[in-house]
Amino acid sequence: MILDEREATPLRRVLGALPSLSELDLGQLEGWAREHGLPAYRAKQLHASLWKRAAQSFDELTDLPIQLRQDIQQTHRLRSIETRIHLKSSRDGAEKVLFGLADGTTVETVLIRAENPGGAPRNTICVSSQVGCPAACSFCATGLSGFTRNLTAAEIADQVMYFARVLREDGERVTNVVYMGMGEPLLNTTAVRQSIGMLLDSAGFNLGGRHVTLSTVGIVPQLRKLADWLGQVNLAVSLHAPNDELRSQLVPYNAHFPIGDLLDAVHEYLAATRRRVSFEYVLLRDVNDTPELARELGTLLRPFGGMAHLNLIPWNPFREGRFIRSEGPDADAFAEEARRAGLNVTVRYSKGLDINAACGQLRENAESTEIAKPKPAWSTVS
Ligand code: SF4
Repeated sequence: MILDEREATPLRRVLGALPSLSELDLGQLEGWAREHGLPAYRAKQLHASLWKRAAQSFDELTDLPIQLRQDIQQTHRLRSIETRIHLKSSRDGAEKVLFGLADGTTVETVLIRAENPGGAPRNTICVSSQVGCPAACSFCATGLSGFTRNLTAAEIADQVMYFARVLREDGERVTNVVYMGMGEPLLNTTAVRQSIGMLLDSAGFNLGGRHVTLSTVGIVPQLRKLADWLGQVNLAVSLHAPNDELRSQLVPYNAHFPIGDLLDAVHEYLAATRRRVSFEYVLLRDVNDTPELARELGTLLRPFGGMAHLNLIPWNPFREGRFIRSEGPDADAFAEEARRAGLNVTVRYSKGLDINAACGQLRENAESTEIAKPKPAWSTVS
């Protein structure tokens, strides 16, 4: 079991890649400007380009003199990640990107677009918090790929800023961020917390805390501390089974943090925050989608009353996946049984099925192709 926070610093120092400006907050940028004999407003301009205009290249920093841009490029990259593959669904507009990191590893990020009748479209970014994942859930492509390292805060926030720039082209913006991509956020809490701070910074990207959701399989010691720092950010718990025997098969961390301990921690969180919690449940045919299990789930979650919401998610198949997707009438029947048992339930179908929707699937498929082969670390800024 991995509970420690592994060294989040990428191997760039070893490999000689340049640090990125997105790693620096406004105070650090001002310090950097002072060191280089530049007026403080240059730091503010840089900060605004990074976090308000979501600039992705030095060419976009048009409020800086060309010579200054060229000078900065000698010592810094602008962003900590670069795009390797960008896919767009022809069915539902979902977009999925494979990002390359300075040490040659890769992570995935997804943009989910949804109509919002009478309002601006909802654009949700699903970010990764680790390269691979130590949780090793048996139904997850990322879990089967093993764990490499934690992401830095900038590597997480830069995933959002990439799509912020994409959406600007369409006159739209990022409305929601969910920490539900590759990785278990509560095994990388320092960087995750810092990245949330970067996204919520009112002087920068200025996203509302209520528009961010952190999802966890339930790392109980970290869960017990969440009420101290999560603020308005939403909590989602990946449950996937109503009893320990089944859950330990699907979510191996359950052997360390059984359902009883997990739900005790959620009760404590609710008592401290009075904020509603959602429970995520991936539907696997004939594994966890029977009426008996729906009733058992009802008994388990009913004590949360209106403070809990159950999201049922038909499983997204991938090459090595050994399950069958439960969907359509099967998913509806499970949902109905859970409702009869007293739960608030929504069936949520993933978007982007034509672009490797399963978490970790694009990365897995890409690794057998030339385009995603690890490149040498960057030595110059592009
Ligand atoms: S489902 Fe989430 S927590 Fe489980 S292995 Fe996959 S990425 Fe990790």
